[in-house]
Amino acid sequence: MKEKATADVRCYMSLGSNMGDREENLKTAVRLLRDSGRIRNIKSSSLYETEPVGYDDQDDFYNICIGFDTDLKPLELLDLSQAIEKELLRVRTIKNGPRTIDLDILLYGDRKINTKRLMVPHERMFERAFVLVPLSELTDIDCEIPSDKSVRKLRKFTF
Ligand code: AMP
Repeated sequence: MKEKATADVRCYMSLGSNMGDREENLKTAVRLLRDSGRIRNIKSSSLYETEPVGYDDQDDFYNICIGFDTDLKPLELLDLSQAIEKELLRVRTIKNGPRTIDLDILLYGDRKINTKRLMVPHERMFERAFVLVPLSELTDIDCEIPSDKSVRKLRKFTF
């Protein structure tokens, strides 16, 4: 008998970049997620330019949120995200320019996960307009959106 496939779970992720070709970094990261073959039905928010939060003395970010279905388990999804972060850093050294990418898992279905490596819902997502504004394009979120930092919608994001 065939082994039963794990059911897909709808997940949401936040992606940000503030070095090098910021839009291209986001596109590469989303394509690498898709090309894993384990992530389907990807829907992206618009592209936003956002002021940094926490440490101010750095360039503005480009941010998006994406929603997708996956059969990956939460820690497998984290492993894939971290492999993509590494891959993009490797690209940076090859091309000799600064490039960076940050991938955060925001929601994994309605699961609550609290382990050393992974907290879902993401610990700081409700304090971050750069996460909540793009996320609210993809799913209903019942929370107040902080307004202390600028989050500017640029255009449709395609990958
Ligand atoms: P950062 O430097 O902000 O990208 O944080 C990376 C660290 O956060 C990694 O060591 C992850 O194990 C941990 N982490 C905890 N929860 C999450 C999450 N929901 N998404 C991504 N990384 C997470």
